[in-house]
Order: sequence, then structure tokens, then C-alpha cells
Amino acid sequence: MDVQCPFPPFYQAPVLNQLPVGVAVIDSEYTVLFFNKCLSSWTGYAYGEVVGKNIRDLFPHLHDGYLAARFETVFQGGPPAIFSAQIHGSLFPSREKQPRDRLQHVTVSGLRRDDDYLAMICVEDVTEVYRRLKAYSEMRDRAVRELGERRRAEQALRESEEKLRILATIDDLTGLLNRRQFIELAARALKQSRRYGHALSLMIIDVDHFKEINDTYGHQTGDDALSGLARVFQETFRQVDVIGRIGGEEFACALPETNLNGAICVAERLRASIVDLPLLTVKGSLSVTISIGVAELDDADENFEALYSRSDRALYKAKNNGRNRVESDEYESPRMSDGT
Ligand code: GH3
Ligand code: MG
Ligand code: MG
Repeated sequence: MDVQCPFPPFYQAPVLNQLPVGVAVIDSEYTVLFFNKCLSSWTGYAYGEVVGKNIRDLFPHLHDGYLAARFETVFQGGPPAIFSAQIHGSLFPSREKQPRDRLQHVTVSGLRRDDDYLAMICVEDVTEVYRRLKAYSEMRDRAVRELGERRRAEQALRESEEKLRILATIDDLTGLLNRRQFIELAARALKQSRRYGHALSLMIIDVDHFKEINDTYGHQTGDDALSGLARVFQETFRQVDVIGRIGGEEFACALPETNLNGAICVAERLRASIVDLPLLTVKGSLSVTISIGVAELDDADENFEALYSRSDRALYKAKNNGRNRVESDEYESPRMSDGT
């Protein structure tokens, strides 16, 4: 078959054959007019085996309707057709290697010849570019995934640390502050009151004859009674008050902005309400009484412990005076040894 190559020999040989890009030219009958060295080496078809042949006989998948329509547009003088490697893989695969293992980016553009158009096919091998892109995107996905996992793990750790921190401050049975946290917060409230010259009172509450409850009804019943009492305390005191369980059946409450009389009133109300209160336990409802010792912060109290021991002294008085009562400890200046 007599085939007229569209390129002058000068361009055809040294330039087009040296290109690291596959170049082929076909006419509208799909007859190959030119096939450069690069495309020969990629496909395994020598120049002589291809030129003059129908390119669709060599690469049968070019019969595909979509591809044919795009080629047709080019033959009509339309815009170039671009076939991406991502969609089409390899349009001009090696005749030896199956399946098609290379990725090609193919551009087909019109080449005007007298009164019709030829199609110039440019084939770029983008296998390596895609391989790197894929590796890069896998690496990025992995990094994003790992970062997400690390963030979630850190968040979970922060949450469990926060939970542990809160748990470490709370008494398991009653949900009130535990002894350590009570002392810390009550001492803080005391400093605050002292700084602004405001009143603060402290009360210590002890359940009367609690041992008998345990002995008579069992430890679980005792526990139920303690939780019931704690609920009443929580309902009775204000948000600003600091309430804690400081021992087995012993509770304490620091009341900011409250002088001794105010604290005695609160304590008395609380004591009276407990007398009438049926506490629900596993053994049915039972009632208990409480004794309360109250003291108000005085300038002479050196620290929280001083106020605490005065409240404790008042509690001791309440126990000695018959229980189920409120006693207070008013600050008395220490007497000088000479009696002044
Ligand atoms: P008093 O009126 O003098 O305070 O008498 P009491 O029996 O309450 O005092 P005592 O200190 O002799 O006994 C306190 C009892 O409290 C002893 C112990 O069995 C009980 N107790 C301490 N902690 C708990 C607890 O967590 N659960 C239960 N169920 N009982 C407890
Ligand atoms: Mg007791
Ligand atoms: Mg006690």
C-alpha cells in the first residue's frame, strides 16, 4: 500500500523518532501513516509492520463506540480528544505483555491535510507518575488515618484522666466529696472568706449510734442509710457550701457567708428534718438521729485545722449532752497564766 507520510523526512526521522513520547498519525480510514520509534518500542510493532495497516486491526479495542466517536470528532476538525490513563489504562499496549500493564495518557488532535483531517496520536507513558501518585496518596491516607487514630486515642486518654481525676475526689458510697477533697476545698473557701473579711462556718455531722444500725440490720443497710443521709445533705445545703464525707458516718460542711447563728439555724433545721425522715434501706425504712458541732471562723484561728478542731469539740459536746442535738464552739481568747 502506498502510504504518504504527512511529515517531511527531516522532521520525521531525527526529531519525532527521538521523542520520549509515542506518536502515530492515521487518516480517517484508520490507516497508519506514521508510527515513531518510541511507540514501536512500547507496542512491539516495527514501523514496517504498522504503516499502511488499519490501526484498529492492531489494537482492536479502538473499535469501542466511545473511542470511535471521539476519533470521528477529530476527523471532522473538532477539538482534540484526550483519553486519561485513569479511565482508559493503556490504549496502545505492548503486543507481548498481557494484560495491559502500562498507563498511557493519549491526546488525539486533528492535522489538516488538504480538504480533510488526519489524526495525530500522542502517547505519554504515565505509569511511573501514577505509581508515585498512588504511593503518595496511600501514604497521605495512612498519615491522615494515623493522625485521626492518635487524636481519638489522646481524646480518650484525656477523658479517662478527667474521669479518674473526678473519681479521685469523690466518695464512692455517697457521691459527696471525699475527705481529702473536702479539706482542700474547705481550706480554699476559708482563705477566700478571710481575704474579703467575710464570715464562714464549719459544721461536723456524726450519725448517732450508727454501730447499732450495722449490728442490727447489717452493713448493707448501714450503707443505704448513709447514702440516704447524703442525699438529704445535698438537698439542704447551698451550691456554694462545701460538703464532704470525712469518715465512716461522719460528714462536714463549710458554709461561706454564714455566721455562727446562721450555721446553728441550718444545723438545727437539718437535725430536725433527719429525725422525721424515713431512710429507705434493703431492710425497709428506718430512722436515725445526728449530732452536729458548729464553729464560726475567727480571726484567731490560725488555719483550717484550728476551725476544724473547734467544730469537732462542739460535736463532742453534742454527743456528751445526749446526742440528736446541735452544739457550737464560740471562740474564747486563751487566758493568760496570771488570770487576766
Ligand atoms: P456515736 O453516737 O458515738 O457516734 O456512736 P456510733 O456507733 O455512731 O459511733 P462509733 O464510732 O462507735 O461507730 C461508728 C460505726 O460506723 C462503726 C462502723 O461500723 C460504722 N461505719 C463506718 N463506716 C461505715 C460504712 O461505710 N458503712 C457502714 N455500713 N457502716 C460504717
Ligand atoms: Mg456516730
Ligand atoms: Mg463517728
